[in-house]
Amino acid sequence: MGPKILLLWDIDGTLLTAGGAGLRALASALQHVFDIDGSIDDIDFAGRTDRSIMRQIFRKFGLPATEENFSRFAEGYVAALPLELANGAVRLLPGIPTLLDAAAARGDTAVGLLTGNLRRGAEVKLGSRNLWQYFPFGAFADDAEDRNELGPHALRRAQIHHRVEFAAVNTWVIGDTPHDIVCARACHARALAVATGRHSADQLQALNPDVVFNDLGDVTAFWRVIAGG
Ligand SMILES: [Mg+2]
Repeated sequence: MGPKILLLWDIDGTLLTAGGAGLRALASALQHVFDIDGSIDDIDFAGRTDRSIMRQIFRKFGLPATEENFSRFAEGYVAALPLELANGAVRLLPGIPTLLDAAAARGDTAVGLLTGNLRRGAEVKLGSRNLWQYFPFGAFADDAEDRNELGPHALRRAQIHHRVEFAAVNTWVIGDTPHDIVCARACHARALAVATGRHSADQLQALNPDVVFNDLGDVTAFWRVIAGG
């Protein structure tokens, strides 16, 4: 018998805080690839896919949003990321990796990613803190520019990996922004919101997730909600 609970994790603000490394890596790529030395501080990042963020940057600086430019920007970003992660304060958020170890130990729980990061960016960020091996599958910005379209990709890969179809009632999207909650609803999954990113518990509550935590430090409370125990 395979697992019956599926946890789909956001990365930034949920598993870890990269201390602005992603932003600095994008700025570095903008400079090295496109020779543009401009501020991207006004770009709307939280909960967006990397591809959507890149499109906003292209628009701001008048660059054509061609596939070639997306791919050059992505290459430059992934190349710049390790140095920025080494310089920045990457911090695991409360309950991580305890919750991931607990999930692995349960036997009834599958774990994957549902993130706006590009796959290679996710691997670099999570790999920097030895978290990448917890996630055998996921959905990434490579799959769709709109976060709301990522759910079906994650569900399909979960099903292929575990040879099990997960019921919507046992599928949880875990994230720190209103976009994660909307994304959960878009694929009929349950929404667990956590206020460890830029949004407060009240702001998240306004989107009516199934549950909001201030952080995931209380492992018992987490499993009580997830497994209904
Ligand atoms: Mg996030």
